[in-house]
Amino acid sequence: MTLSLHNTLTRRLEPFQPLAPPRVTLYTCGPTVWNYAHIGNFRTFLFEDLLRRYLEFSGYDVFHIMNLTDVDDRTIKAAAAAGKRLEEHTAPFVEAFFGDCDYLRIRKAHAYPRATQSVPAMVRLVQRLLDTGFAYRGEDGSVYFAIAKFPGYGRLSQLDRREIKIGARVASDEYAKDDPRDFALWKRADPIDEQVGAAWDAPFGRGRPGWHLECSAMSLDQIGKCCRVETLDIHAGGVDLIFPHHEDEIAQSEAATGKPFARYWLHGEFLNVGGTKMSKRFGNFLTARDLREQGVDAAAVRLLFSQTHYRKALDFSDEALVAAGQGVKRLGEFRERLLGEKGNPIGLPDGRGKGEGKLAELATKFEADFRAALDDDLNAPRACAALFELVHEGNGALDAGAPGGAVVRDALDRAMAVLDVLPTAKPVDPALARWVAERIAARDKARKAKDFTEADRIRAELKARGVEIEDTPSGTKWRMV
Ligand code: AMP
Ligand code: ZN
Repeated sequence: MTLSLHNTLTRRLEPFQPLAPPRVTLYTCGPTVWNYAHIGNFRTFLFEDLLRRYLEFSGYDVFHIMNLTDVDDRTIKAAAAAGKRLEEHTAPFVEAFFGDCDYLRIRKAHAYPRATQSVPAMVRLVQRLLDTGFAYRGEDGSVYFAIAKFPGYGRLSQLDRREIKIGARVASDEYAKDDPRDFALWKRADPIDEQVGAAWDAPFGRGRPGWHLECSAMSLDQIGKCCRVETLDIHAGGVDLIFPHHEDEIAQSEAATGKPFARYWLHGEFLNVGGTKMSKRFGNFLTARDLREQGVDAAAVRLLFSQTHYRKALDFSDEALVAAGQGVKRLGEFRERLLGEKGNPIGLPDGRGKGEGKLAELATKFEADFRAALDDDLNAPRACAALFELVHEGNGALDAGAPGGAVVRDALDRAMAVLDVLPTAKPVDPALARWVAERIAARDKARKAKDFTEADRIRAELKARGVEIEDTPSGTKWRMV
């Protein structure tokens, strides 16, 4: 089986075929750093993390770009309200965002272009659209995109073209759903913009970029630099970005390049609370730092989100999070149990029997189920079900004394490269870590001198302090048990 993804452009599952395999260019709309991101935002970022990790697991060489929206209506308003310059206002939220990503074990993008640092690319894009007649300067001094000039407008969001309001304009970054009007590419600087330092000179007037323009300019700039292309393999975001944000990104980019902007559009559903979208506006939000402060293991958040398909709404509750935490604990205990397991018996002298046995069978079945689930439009809930079946059946087989647990451990670890839901290791006291390193060195010395009695004594000494060791080809590993 090969990977199939649901493409919002066609509303169908399509086999995934990147432009130039094994490379995959992936652009995900990043956070607007006017405030802390909430875990609703992180549901989208975690769905994108799953996508990224599974692409890599499947052998693709992913170039992942995530922008930071550090200038738009919201950031300017928030900076002005705080009496700060834009940069001064957004800096702590940028830092917090990266800290939250680390906490949630989100794989780092290869490029994090920031809107304020990408203005030249934006100015070039606006100029290109003015030169080709897709954009015009309004009498208010802003530059607008003429959607009537772009026949494909509305394709992604499946808007009826008759609904298009020719010549009607909107300057705000976000406007009423299903209200297609000419949108601002470049907004003439007003006194608040000047006050917070959000205005730049351009041949078509001093101003600042519109939010939609930012993503087109940054993505085209990045894939141009990295891969000399003008088409993304995948563009992703939350469902609320389909219209107008992504629709407008397509219009600007395709009008400028004459090429398809993205081959696959993926959209993740909302995290809700009691049926309502989690949002700063509704005040029903929790941030990643709230969870961290409550001592919630990030693995529980990851498992909770993985257990609902990314295209289904997920209702957040404390009970669901606690239940996910128990799932994580179970997985951790199973992984611990497999730690000391040896590889499969070498088998019979004629080689038969190698890799056979209950646990090897379970591992093989699990890996096949896991891939089949994720190949099917990233069906992580099914992958999680396969994982817990492995735990259940694996525990049963171990109870019955089946040998060869290392095969299961390896399969589990491979799956964790995608789901990453094992419990977070507790921080270790540095003094203890130094002592363990010293003891392991002493044991190595003893082993080299063939003094196995001393080596075993040291192992027992470590064990007495809760440290379990394992000799691997890359050296002796240890962990607290
Ligand atoms: P923003 O910081 O507002 O630009 O949003 C960043 C990302 O979070 C976007 O991809 C949004 O679609 C997504 N998002 C916002 N609210 C939610 C939510 N409640 N559930 C899932 N994703 C969300
Ligand atoms: Zn975007």
